[in-house]
Amino acid sequence: MLGALACPECHTLVHGAELNALSRDAKALEAKGQPAQAREVWSRSLTMLPPDSKQAEWVRDRVRALELAQAATPEAQGKPQHAWARRLGPLAPIAILLAKSKGLLLAVFKLKFLFSFFSFIALYVVLFGWRFGVGLAVSILIHEMGHFIDIKRRGLPAEMPVFLPGLGAYVKWNALGVTKKQIAQISLAGPLAGWIAAASCLVIYGYTHEPVWAALARTGAVLNVLNLIPVWMLDGGKAASSLGMVERSALLAAALGAWLLTWEPIFFLVAAGAVYRLFTKDKPAREDWSTLVYYVGLLAALGMVLHATPVLRGGR
Ligand SMILES: [Zn+2]
Repeated sequence: MLGALACPECHTLVHGAELNALSRDAKALEAKGQPAQAREVWSRSLTMLPPDSKQAEWVRDRVRALELAQAATPEAQGKPQHAWARRLGPLAPIAILLAKSKGLLLAVFKLKFLFSFFSFIALYVVLFGWRFGVGLAVSILIHEMGHFIDIKRRGLPAEMPVFLPGLGAYVKWNALGVTKKQIAQISLAGPLAGWIAAASCLVIYGYTHEPVWAALARTGAVLNVLNLIPVWMLDGGKAASSLGMVERSALLAAALGAWLLTWEPIFFLVAAGAVYRLFTKDKPAREDWSTLVYYVGLLAALGMVLHATPVLRGGR
């Protein structure tokens, strides 16, 4: 179907084991509250990166931030951030939220994002009418923002989603020193946000009985399950990379269960993908049950939305 939400380009950067080790060391030092030493290690990794690359830019920002942290409170290392906000008393959480969301707001108004998003909406509006078109584009935006927010909350750099009319969207980010498990969870954050969007459409349909909301709930849920097929560079494909043999078998059982319970063919595709991943030679050394629970929980939640949404004809 048109608009298959391929989310293929979580551009993992090619980097050496050495860079990985350095960033791990630097992060450990930061966690231990030793910004001076962490800054030194980050600076060392800079010499190995092309100066105009995204990673280099990110590391330079990191170094600058650590410098600032040191300069501001030389004796107060390890104190909580935003000490200034405490003076605001009950308003402090709002002030901190504003300080943190400034970057997000600025990012939202980036031109490339705006331009690509509006041409994306325009195509769906032409194809499906304005209400369904805008709704579908917004629900895909919400899916992408799920990835974006999860990347940001881990302190990793990311760019706002880019939309490819008729194809889907992606978030560009920097996977320097990120584990398979973290990549898996960042990948699942998109379908999680997508499920919230689809479930909200279903609730609105429950109140308004406007067919367009049922159509949006169903389309949104199908697109997000589609992204959970554990193959290629789909969200599910990246999440499954963190799963071992036993977890992949459990994923297969869950997908088959969802298929038998709902008779939605899309779950059969998830099961087929899981069978394929039983035989690929990319299993990690470590088990990752939390990713499996997250994954299966999403399939179940999306299955419930599909099950509860009536199939309507000509739902505009
Ligand atoms: Zn995605």
